[in-house]
Amino acid sequence: MSATPVTVIGLGPMGQAMVRALLAAGHPVTVWNRTPSRAEGVVADGARLAASPADAVAAGDLVILSLTDYQAMWDVLGGATARLAGRTLVNLSSDTPDKTREAAAWARSHSASFVAGGVMVPAPMVGTDRAYVYYSGDAEAFDAHRAALAHLGEPSFLGDDPARAQLMYQAHLDAFLTTLSGIAHATALVGSAGITAEEFLPEVMRLIGAIPDMLAADGVAALGALIDRGEHPGEGADNVMLGATADHIVASSRSAGVDTALPRAVQAHYHRAIDDGHGADGWTRIVDGIRAPA
Ligand code: NDP
Repeated sequence: MSATPVTVIGLGPMGQAMVRALLAAGHPVTVWNRTPSRAEGVVADGARLAASPADAVAAGDLVILSLTDYQAMWDVLGGATARLAGRTLVNLSSDTPDKTREAAAWARSHSASFVAGGVMVPAPMVGTDRAYVYYSGDAEAFDAHRAALAHLGEPSFLGDDPARAQLMYQAHLDAFLTTLSGIAHATALVGSAGITAEEFLPEVMRLIGAIPDMLAADGVAALGALIDRGEHPGEGADNVMLGATADHIVASSRSAGVDTALPRAVQAHYHRAIDDGHGADGWTRIVDGIRAPA
């Protein structure tokens, strides 16, 4: 059986990588991009450039969107709604849960199926065996196209609510971006004593790489199960100790003349836990204050 045709709309680094992964797997791929010159590379590799979004949508049942945000989907497909009936839109763009649910309802109103997704690797890793993608939304449509989507990365389906995949993606980026800001802040702080970034980064990566072992001797799923049960054991490192450390980081940042916004936010998490009577608990207790901000 020949591979099914796939349409990819949006040819930033991610869209281009998806097109190449699908072409390599033998799928005929039709593309459209607002700036047509961005299609030149993938057309040279074998994709067909559609003349319009409507032409692109008409090329196959599976339409993958890789755009800056969900408004871009409405901007592109707003003039092509008559062609949407019976198609499956798989939107792999980032946006809010509300926009994602709104898009699913909009697709349904045009008799199209909707699946939201979040690609968890950067463009150069799309289509490799390290790539993985979260999906949620229309389960039947996802199952129908699972084989094609698997060429982008290992697919995981998270259920009917299209916002779940969107939030799974954003939660990962939340952890990732916050970690990057922490590394940047720490680099600035240590730099105030003349320690270069070149010296510091390999050192701090030793600690970052050891985080799973430090946090959870029984594995991170077991740690998650404790959080889900509302249990936050503090043996070895309780919130009073961690809060004092957070105080020192704020004071050191202030005296070094570096920005204190990030360490003050961290400090506030521990002081909230202590103020709520959880000084003897472990760090995971701070999730309560984050869930219910004062
Ligand atoms: P880019 O910003 O490079 O590409 C965005 C695409 O959206 C371009 O094709 C652009 O068209 C199009 N676009 C934006 N606004 C409009 C609009 N109003 N109308 C029509 N087209 C529009 O993004 P990436 O390829 O890097 O990422 C795409 C999505 O994937 C994003 O949502 C991103 O968050 C997500 N993602 C990105 C990762 C990465 O490492 N880059 C990793 C995981 C997910 P034009 O070329 O004309 O500007």
